[in-house]
Amino acid sequence: MKAEIIAIGTELLLGEIADTNTSFLANQLAGLGIDLYFASTVGDNRQRLTGVLRTAWQRSELILTTGGLGPTQGDITRETIAAFLGEEMRLDPELKRDLVSFFKQRGLEMPLNNLKQAMLIPSSAALRNPRGTAPGWWVEKDGRTIVVMPGPPGEMQLMWQNEVSPRLKEKVGGIILSRLVKTFGLSESKVDEMLAPLIASANPTLASYARPDGIYLRITAKADQPEAAQEMVARYEAEIRATLGEAIWGTDSDTLEGVVGQLLAARGLSLAAAESFTGGSLTQLLANAPQSQAFFKGGFTATADEAKIACGLDPAVTAGPKREVAAAMASLARRKLSTQVGISVEAAPARDGLIEIFVAIDSEPAQRNRVQSYSGRVYFMRNRAASYALFDLMKWLKLAGNG
Ligand code: AMP
Ligand code: MG
Repeated sequence: MKAEIIAIGTELLLGEIADTNTSFLANQLAGLGIDLYFASTVGDNRQRLTGVLRTAWQRSELILTTGGLGPTQGDITRETIAAFLGEEMRLDPELKRDLVSFFKQRGLEMPLNNLKQAMLIPSSAALRNPRGTAPGWWVEKDGRTIVVMPGPPGEMQLMWQNEVSPRLKEKVGGIILSRLVKTFGLSESKVDEMLAPLIASANPTLASYARPDGIYLRITAKADQPEAAQEMVARYEAEIRATLGEAIWGTDSDTLEGVVGQLLAARGLSLAAAESFTGGSLTQLLANAPQSQAFFKGGFTATADEAKIACGLDPAVTAGPKREVAAAMASLARRKLSTQVGISVEAAPARDGLIEIFVAIDSEPAQRNRVQSYSGRVYFMRNRAASYALFDLMKWLKLAGNG
């Protein structure tokens, strides 16, 4: 099924509101295995909305709109769709009753202009909106489906979940199963190259996208039976694992800090962090990890000089390779908070706008200590440094577990 999204609202075109509805719906459609080919934004204007609808009608079987269902003169989505389909809107007595009681429950008098929210056309069925006053429309006509939803993201998402997604699942038929495989340390183009034969496939599909904590791969399989879909996803995941190996750190809702926490807890190890370049973001991730209190004893930001002094180095003498400073910071973290493992992130300018970050891990016994360095553009490394640290710690813990 070919789908298209139309986000309606002048405020979107003025840049006052970021269009989060489109990204939510795009993500959901992908999960249902429905192909989204176009998404457009249009203001609250009858003529221009009609134009966008006409184009969508010609090229898409499923049209999803959000916005413009409010009670004001400016909200023109219902009227415009009715006119486009050549149908007349009528007040629906049941919707009117719901609307009146919505206001009554809140001890309010219903303004008359809200009545337009209780309108339907012959081709439309109402979609319930428990969070607001505007019901949606499910329109079926001439082999096309138009789903009309309200703009406020909370209302739209609940309507999607309760009313729209189940109907679409039924329409699509069969089973759609998807799985996210999360990698770190490989570029998106490298992943693309390595998985080229899988990415070319139509079922299952494999899509990649870049996140601060690495490249994610989404496998989506369609089949008539759940077992068949599961088998397809498992086969793809196995191939991806065989190809990307160590770069894979988790699946679905896993987080790097969660995986690290599990590994630490399984080995009965506690962790402390000292940060300079990351200014606390690593500590924040670890502190918010599931069961954080079981393994994370805390973190602090430290200057290079503090780290040197604490480790018995003279700051004036040891201008020092940053590698050693990072190691000193990790050791300081471990001793200050009395943990078995300390981790630090320190950085130094490299060349031509590049920065080098050092991730150091210090533990008992000492032979397991190490410092890794990575270089890249400053903004990029700022975004990623905590992920480098967590990924390093994860690999180190896996090695420690084997030895
Ligand atoms: P509307 O139903 O168009 O009157 O929208 C009501 C409110 O929902 C707007 O003022 C925005 O705050 C929000 N909204 C509308 N469309 C979107 C969208 N595409 N993405 C995120 N928020 C939206
Ligand atoms: Mg609006």
